[in-house]
Amino acid sequence: MSTKLLPFTKNQIEKIIKKYPTPFHLYDEKAIRENARAFKNSFAWNEDFKEFFAVKAAPNPYLMKILHKEGFGADCSSLPELMLADKVGIVGEHIMFSSNNTPANEYVKAKELGAIINLDDISHIPFLEKHCGIPEVISFRYNPGHLRKGNPIIGDPVESKYGFTRSQIFEGFKIARKKGAKRFGLHSFVISNELNRESYVETARMLFKLAVDLKKEIDIRLEFVNLSGGIGIPYRPEQSAVDLIALGKEIEREYKGIIIANDLHPIKLFTECGRYITGPYGYLVSTVLHKKDIYKQYIGLDASMANLMRPALYGAYHHITVMGKEDLPLDHVYDVTGSLCENNDKFAIDRKLPKIDVGDIIVIHDTGAHGHAMGFNYNGKLRSAELLLRENGEVVQIRRAETVKDYFATLDFNGLTRFKV
Ligand SMILES: *Cc1c(COP(=O)(O)O)cnc(C)c1O
Repeated sequence: MSTKLLPFTKNQIEKIIKKYPTPFHLYDEKAIRENARAFKNSFAWNEDFKEFFAVKAAPNPYLMKILHKEGFGADCSSLPELMLADKVGIVGEHIMFSSNNTPANEYVKAKELGAIINLDDISHIPFLEKHCGIPEVISFRYNPGHLRKGNPIIGDPVESKYGFTRSQIFEGFKIARKKGAKRFGLHSFVISNELNRESYVETARMLFKLAVDLKKEIDIRLEFVNLSGGIGIPYRPEQSAVDLIALGKEIEREYKGIIIANDLHPIKLFTECGRYITGPYGYLVSTVLHKKDIYKQYIGLDASMANLMRPALYGAYHHITVMGKEDLPLDHVYDVTGSLCENNDKFAIDRKLPKIDVGDIIVIHDTGAHGHAMGFNYNGKLRSAELLLRENGEVVQIRRAETVKDYFATLDFNGLTRFKV
């Protein structure tokens, strides 16, 4: 079980809405910091442990700066994400560049920033060499193929476009060493939004064993192992959060049994979690615009899937609270919708909720990762603002809402006036 609490009261959110109209995403700084510390703590047994926050989950400089202050780096996978990290002051080996199908200019930027470059394919070794040279430190992404099952969200590794095969990992390290690389890392990402600890432990075991084989077979001694992301969060109230302390201990046991036992200690442990770091601490706040009673009952919000795509994209569950009605019986069944001309623009289908009225404030939980970040402009919808609830209760706007001017910014109306048809 996970209790779906809110970091604000109805009264407080009404005051916030007076200043910042709905819809908006609001992040809870206190909870983000506490969670970041707990996360670090569970891996404190590894002296050089480092989490590289997966920027794609919540690419906001304020959130990145808070996490950097807590000791986290940034996991980037595109040029704008690299530039974002740079602007926040996250540089050098505090950046993990885990991209795939990477354009040359992104490698050039990553190398210029001194980021750790994590290659997705063996053919990228000569590609990297050609465009910016082989860096001293290099990491490879391993795809275990038939050796692992993956999970329902990320799918079967054999069907996945990512990473080197096992034999390519060996070949790749030999080539990189010959070309001058001196420090080596290994990465793998085979699960996503996984609540079962064992699959994450299995990734650690798999990479630790591979570290032993790399040493034995080709005398490559890894400097770090990157377990990547994929730790899940309980979107549903009946699910339970991953016990991080237990997870840390289980990975430590594998480390002792494999790394220390084979005389490979110390190896730095890295992670690249996104969802687990900010997911539960973001809330999409919206107002009920309309109620509609046809074959089913609909609640129409001023937010749409342009603000939160997960339910429409994956049928994902996001918990909903109707402000001020937390204690009322869930005796109504509604589809909660946005305004896109797409029938899948729904935040919930057949959801049991208290009686809802026009003007009610609706809070959609767990939008702190892959929420605002997945926003888009289809149907002329504009992305919302992002607000930060600070530890002292103050609210800071950390991204303004888009305006029609932003939507038109890439269009050329002057050209249109000269355009004869
Ligand atoms: C998405 C991604 C992550 C983060 O995944 P979460 O599920 O948010 O923890 C980490 N590394 C890479 C390479 C990714 O693509």
